[in-house]
Amino acid sequence: MSAPQPYTDDQDVVNYINGVRVPGSSGRKQDVFNPSAGAVARHLVMSTAQDVDAAVAAARKAAPAWADTPPVRRARILNRFLALMQQHTDALAAMITAEHGKVFTDAQGEVARGMDVIEFACGIPQLLKGGYTDQVATGIDNWTMRQPLGVVAGITPFNFPCMVPCWMFPVAIASGNTFILKPSERDPSASLLMADLLKQAGLPDGVFNVVQGDKVAVDALIEHPDVAAVSFVGSTPIAHYIHERCAHFGKRVQALGGAKNHMVIMPDADLSRAVDALVGAAYGSAGERCMAISVGVLVGSVADRIVPLLEERARSLKIKDGMNLDAEMGPVVTCQAKERIENYIEAGVQEGAELKVDGRGYKVPGHDDGFYVGGTLFDRVKPDMSIYREEIFGPVLACVRVDDFGQAVELINKHEFANGVSCFTSDGHIAREFARRIHVGMVGINVPIPVPMAWHGFGGWKRSLFGDTHAFGEEGVRFYTRQKSVMQRWPESISKGNEFVMPTV
Ligand code: NAD
Repeated sequence: MSAPQPYTDDQDVVNYINGVRVPGSSGRKQDVFNPSAGAVARHLVMSTAQDVDAAVAAARKAAPAWADTPPVRRARILNRFLALMQQHTDALAAMITAEHGKVFTDAQGEVARGMDVIEFACGIPQLLKGGYTDQVATGIDNWTMRQPLGVVAGITPFNFPCMVPCWMFPVAIASGNTFILKPSERDPSASLLMADLLKQAGLPDGVFNVVQGDKVAVDALIEHPDVAAVSFVGSTPIAHYIHERCAHFGKRVQALGGAKNHMVIMPDADLSRAVDALVGAAYGSAGERCMAISVGVLVGSVADRIVPLLEERARSLKIKDGMNLDAEMGPVVTCQAKERIENYIEAGVQEGAELKVDGRGYKVPGHDDGFYVGGTLFDRVKPDMSIYREEIFGPVLACVRVDDFGQAVELINKHEFANGVSCFTSDGHIAREFARRIHVGMVGINVPIPVPMAWHGFGGWKRSLFGDTHAFGEEGVRFYTRQKSVMQRWPESISKGNEFVMPTV
C-alpha cells in the first residue's frame, strides 16, 4: 500500500443542518487535538439549545416526505452512499487517525465495519415487510406493519467516530426516520464528511443533521419534545443518565455503556494463538475499544507459561504515529486520558498487583508531546483492585489467576460490566458450557473480539446496556420503528348492520 495522505484541514468543525454546514451560535469553541503531535489541530464550534432546535425543526420538516418515500428508494440512496463510503474510506480513515490516534489500517477497518451496517440497512424493504393473516374471521384480514418514529437522535463516543454513528443512522433513516447526530467533541470531523457523502448520494436535506457540542447539546436533544427516540453509546455513568432522562421524558432509548472484557485462557488452549489474540485485543487501538480485552483470566497451569510470552510482546509493540503503516498502536486520545490511565497504573502498583511492563512516560521519537502510553501488563491482579473493577480504557492488560474453569465463570459473572467475553480452549464441551453459562452479551470462542456482524445486532448485558434493544440488526429496525396492526373488513359484512358484541373467531 502506498503512503496514505494525512488529514491536516484546520478549518473550524461546525454543524450540518438542512443540507448545509453552519456554525453553532454559542460563541464557545473547543480544541480538537492531533493526539500524536499533542497539539491543537482545529476547533469545534459548540452548539446551543437553539442550534439543536434548528436541527430538530429541519428534521421534523423533512420527516413526512421521507417517511412516505418507498423503502426501496430509501435503500437505493443508501446503496449509493455505501459506494461513496468505499471510495472515501482512506480519507475517512486519515481523519480518524488524525483526531483519535488509532493506526490508519485499524481506522480503515473501522470504516469497513460501519459500511457493513449500511449494507444491512440497504435490505430495508425486506426488513420492513409486515405480517399478514388472511381471514382472521369471516371476511376480515389482519396485518401488522412497522412505521418510523419521526425525528430520532444519536449521541456517540470518541472511540469509533465513523463506525458507531453507522450503527445508528443508516438503520434509522432506512426505516423512514430523520436523524440528528451529536458526535464526540474529541473527533468530530468524520461526521461532516459522512454528511457530505449522504447528500451526494441523493439524501434529501433535513433527513440527516449533525449538531456538534457537549452536554448542552445532549440535554437539549433529550428534552426536545419533537425527538422521539435516542440512541446513545458511551461510558456507563452517562449511559445511565441518558436512560433515566429519556425515560423521564417518555422517550424510547437504548444506551450502550462501558465494559471490562475478560478473556479466559484454558490450559489446553493453543498458546501461540491465544497470545496473538490477547495482545491484539488488549493493545489494539491503545485499548480504547469497548470490546478491548482488559482482563486475561489465566486458568491453572497456563499462567506461568503465558505471562512471560505476554511480557515479551507488550515490550516489543510497535508504538508510533498511526499514519505509519507498520504501527501497531498509536497514542491515546487526549492528555487527560493519558493522565487517567497512568493514574490507574499507579493505583495497581499501590494495591499490590505485579507490574510486569510499565507504559508510563512512554516517548515516541519526534512526537515528544504526543499522548502516548506504552503497553502495560499486570500479573496477579485481584478482583477487589480498582484496575480490575473499573474500566481503564487504555493499553493496560490485567491478568487474574484462577484455579479452574468454574472459578473463571464465577469471576466474570460477578462483574458489573458484561459487554464482551472470550474463551480460548480446544475442548468443545468447555466452549459450549462457557457460551451457555456466561452472563455477558457477546461471546467469543477462540475469537478475541466477538463484535457481531451487522445482521446480528450489538449489545452487552448488565451495566453495559441500559434499555432492551441492541444496536443495529433486526433489533435496530425494531428500535427505530413502531408496530401498527390493521384489521380490515370490506362493505359486504358491514352491510349486516351494527355489531355491539366483541367480534370473535
Ligand atoms: P462519554 O460517555 O464521555 O461520551 C459519549 C458521548 O456523551 C459524547 O458524545 C459526549 O459529548 C456525551 N457526554 C459526555 N458527558 C456528558 C454529560 N455529562 N451529559 C451528557 N452528555 C455527555 O464516552 P467517551 O469517552 O466518548 O467514549 C468511551 C466510552 O464509551 C467507554 O466507556 C467505552 O466503553 C464506551 N463505549 C461503549 C460501546 C458499547 O457498545 N457498549 C461502544 C463504544 C464505546
